[in-house]
Amino acid sequence: MIYDCLIVGAGHAGVQAAFSLRQMQFKGSIGLLGEEADPPYERPPLSKDFLAGQRDFDSLLLRRTDAWADRGIDLLLGRRVTTVHPDGHEVELAGDGRFGYGTLIWAAGGKPRRLSCSGGDLAGIHTIRTRADVDALRDELCPAGAVAIIGGGYIGLEAAAVLSGLGKSVTVIEAQDRVLARVAGEPLSRFYEREHRARGVSIRLRASVQRVDGANGRVDGVRLADGTTIPADMVIAAIGIDPVDGPLRDAGAESGNGVRVDGFCRTSIPDVFAIGDCVMQANPFAANRQIRVESVQNANDQAVHVAKMLTGNVVPYRALPWFWSNQYDLRLQTVGISAGHDSWVVRGDPDSRSFSVVYLLDGRISALDCVNATRDFVQGRGLIGRTAPAPVLTALGDPAVPLKEITSALDA
Ligand code: FAD
Repeated sequence: MIYDCLIVGAGHAGVQAAFSLRQMQFKGSIGLLGEEADPPYERPPLSKDFLAGQRDFDSLLLRRTDAWADRGIDLLLGRRVTTVHPDGHEVELAGDGRFGYGTLIWAAGGKPRRLSCSGGDLAGIHTIRTRADVDALRDELCPAGAVAIIGGGYIGLEAAAVLSGLGKSVTVIEAQDRVLARVAGEPLSRFYEREHRARGVSIRLRASVQRVDGANGRVDGVRLADGTTIPADMVIAAIGIDPVDGPLRDAGAESGNGVRVDGFCRTSIPDVFAIGDCVMQANPFAANRQIRVESVQNANDQAVHVAKMLTGNVVPYRALPWFWSNQYDLRLQTVGISAGHDSWVVRGDPDSRSFSVVYLLDGRISALDCVNATRDFVQGRGLIGRTAPAPVLTALGDPAVPLKEITSALDA
């Protein structure tokens, strides 16, 4: 079978691309290939209410089951692409089979990194990326009293919040000197550290894992480099993902930390686009550094962008990044990209559990992290990229001054 547009990866990005193409009146045939057997679903609840057992799988589905046939999209599940043949415009599947393409959209996301230390393959070590991962984790959860989570990023902390709420004794092991070190500034890290500790989560900072200990093939503790052992009936490795770009790289696509795309989401291979978590792109909201953005917003917006490109609307991709994370009763909403910031302003009192952190780089506002502060999140969008002279910095630090007033003053 030859598809006019073949999409590899049936996650947020791939699904959005297929449906956007139809919305934009793309008349050709569309095939959407996915490795997972499950129909496409939302990933963020996997470390939140789905892990907590508060949502069932059907409520996670990205589209109704009849929507695929309605829109004339062939959903081809349980199939993994191993090889891309750019010359023949074909992809090859694990096992057997090939599909041809007119245009290929690579949307294969990422795979969770596994522990490379000794004991890293023992039973009882889990990751959180797919529905199957969380089902397996939940099946083993009942007898587990103590859970060690390796990695204090968003997924590790969200899992810590859920599991401590389920009565587990949770330890978060983080190699850096603060949680969320890769994605947020110090005030936010310290706030979340306090919140987790206040709920009984043990947080070990500057802690490097030496090995995972086990008995009878099953994990029973995590040994740290300082010689201490954290007892654990279950370990969750939340140490990030590796982008899935192997088949494209092997086919000659430029890559680095993911498939490299230009400002239009085109790879270096003709007729092949790439979108979502697997993509590395110069980002105007990060001083044009080549970065990978892991968020639903980025997956969806790049998908819409490529659908526009394929229906004749050729414009460069530019979308303001945003993200969210739920932990306990705290809703964090982020806009912009804070990585690389050189200063910040805290807006409001973190002890009130409703505050924002405004990040700056070279005197320009680069991002906001808003905790239980949706108004700041909404109004702060207009501030991204704006220069902030001293009076603006003072106003930013005063939660009584609405951010939209600061934007209006800057516009005047
Ligand atoms: P994916 O969702 O990973 O989809 C890629 C698909 O491609 C997968 O189904 C995979 O099986 C398939 N695939 C891979 N290789 C192949 C192959 N060779 N052949 C065929 N198919 C293949 N983002 C937020 O904005 N807010 C959140 O709160 C948030 N929480 C998250 C919580 C968790 C637990 C996780 C895992 C992610 C979270 N994210 C969150 C990130 C967000 O889910 C991702 O950025 C988003 O799913 C990326 O979409 P994608 O389509 O690029 O990749």
